[in-house]
Amino acid sequence: MKNVLITGSSSGIGKIAAEKLKAEGYNVFQTGRKKLDIENYLSIDLSDPKNVNKLYNYVKENFGEIDILINNAGEYLYSPIDKMKLDETIKIFNSNFISHYYLTSLVVPYMKQKKFGRIVNIASISGVVGEANASLYSATKSAYFGFSKSLALELAEYNITINSISPGWVETPLTNAALNEQEKMETLDVVPQKRFVEPVEIANLIKYLISDSAKGITGQNINLCAGLTCGC
Ligand code: NAD
Repeated sequence: MKNVLITGSSSGIGKIAAEKLKAEGYNVFQTGRKKLDIENYLSIDLSDPKNVNKLYNYVKENFGEIDILINNAGEYLYSPIDKMKLDETIKIFNSNFISHYYLTSLVVPYMKQKKFGRIVNIASISGVVGEANASLYSATKSAYFGFSKSLALELAEYNITINSISPGWVETPLTNAALNEQEKMETLDVVPQKRFVEPVEIANLIKYLISDSAKGITGQNINLCAGLTCGC
């Protein structure tokens, strides 16, 4: 059975995806900021990309090589650009993209050798369309689109696919921290389906994208957003 590494799977989308893939018979390694006493888990701060070496070496020694990578960990930041500090800007870019870019570079050699690999990035519709006062978050997520298309071309002959999923608003701890109850109601008002996406919907799409049935899908982004990117 294939080995899967899901970053940021101590809560929210990643946690549900880990549960789903374990139930499907995959061997899953999870990471998160929280310290958790569960099997195949490492607490790691991805705001410093140097920690990625520690993560990769730990996983390789204690779990095995990675066949499937889900680049999921990420932080939302709502802030006007003139309030942003350089340190925070770098930390968010590191957490949301640079650490995952580097982690991908470490797992790809084994995938190339095995002539099999699946990489799924959890981006965001904020990277597909703009979001006022979330320009940094949006930039960290849209980075995945160029990354995926380029890497899809580079790795196509090795049976390695790389795709992104861009969720709209999903009800998770991230959303609960970003929006109060009033803001949640206002948000749902502009979502065409008038509902939050459920984490399990993202998990199901991950399951499909890593399956053999999706072997021809690479370099793509799929918006799973309850209609939010369709227009108004
Ligand atoms: P969440 O807060 O429930 O989970 C985030 C996970 O990432 C946690 O495990 C957390 O520990 C980990 N994480 C965050 N920053 C980290 C860091 N610096 N170092 C190590 N781990 C870190 O949030 P979620 O909603 O499940 O988000 C998962 C992904 O989905 C994120 O990349 C987020 O940007 C993306 N996303 C979420 C929504 C939404 O509405 N919730 C929408 C679009 C995209």
